[in-house]
Amino acid sequence: MTAEKAIVVQSLSKFYDGKPGVVDISFSVGKGDVVGFLGPNGAGKTTTLNCITGVLTPDSGVIQVDGHDTVESPMEVRKRIGYLPEIAPLYPDMTVEEYLTYAAQLRDVPKNRIRESVERAMEACGITDVRKRLIRNLSKGYGQRVGIAQAIVHDPPILILDEPTIGLDPIQIQEIRNLIRELSGSHTIFLSTHILPEVTMICNRVIIINDGKIAAEDTLEGLTRRVKRKPDYFVRFSPGEEAEAEKFLSSLSAVEDCRRDGSGFVVTMKNDESEVDEIVRGAVERNLHVRELSRQTASLEDIFVRLTTEETAGGEEE
Ligand code: ATP
Repeated sequence: MTAEKAIVVQSLSKFYDGKPGVVDISFSVGKGDVVGFLGPNGAGKTTTLNCITGVLTPDSGVIQVDGHDTVESPMEVRKRIGYLPEIAPLYPDMTVEEYLTYAAQLRDVPKNRIRESVERAMEACGITDVRKRLIRNLSKGYGQRVGIAQAIVHDPPILILDEPTIGLDPIQIQEIRNLIRELSGSHTIFLSTHILPEVTMICNRVIIINDGKIAAEDTLEGLTRRVKRKPDYFVRFSPGEEAEAEKFLSSLSAVEDCRRDGSGFVVTMKNDESEVDEIVRGAVERNLHVRELSRQTASLEDIFVRLTTEETAGGEEE
């Protein structure tokens, strides 16, 4: 296990009355990384996060946080992790400031630093103006900000967020994502979600979990490449040229497949992207007018469905 890693999970298994939560999973999160932990409901995300944060004890396997074993050195681990569980542990009858002060005490922030720590957390999460409000009177979006503020009040280098935007309206979702992006400048973030665009917007790496096992671990680009290696292009011609264009595209030796898509065509090339030159050259020769030409990447949805259904990771089709 390496010290440069913020989180290392090795062969983790956790069962509930003999029923698997996660089985023999291994992965790591590098310092400064923003990693999306993606999986369908019941995949084992919360179980994993609870084991990393010490809420649950693994049945087997080893977890290290900043080089500290979660079972042997739970206090060292707690100092380094800020955790926002799926249901934020908020106290509705406290004001924001009272609650964060209490959270700072719980996290062993030295007495003379509590005030400054609470101010910093409120400032970072944009909740200074609601500091005197009772938590019960906050909107869900502000409640979630308070949840994140309690996670960073002891200034941990690592943030673990379990489905941080669940139950929020679209504007609140945007605000919380922006906040997470801001925090990612100064924290390692490990974030569970089943919302694919969330990963695309916030994360630089993805770990996909399915049915208690890791299905893939890669960068977004890497995953896209694994699932789809033959390049697709979207091509649109001037209106009225579609029939001619379809004949032309289908006749090209570099084209493996061509299908209509709205006002244009999705064209799969046989080998690599250099073959797109054939489309451009041929269109000019036939006096067809290309109005749009763009490379299409497999969406995260495609990747997710492929990796969590019948296909296994690794692009075996090649
Ligand atoms: P969700 O997105 O629905 O929260 P998840 O990916 O976080 O799902 P987990 O909550 O970790 O998944 O659940 C993994 C598996 O373990 C599921 O089959 C779930 O039913 C089971 N499980 C989780 N917690 C418990 C528990 N306390 N008792 C029994 N089974 C549990």
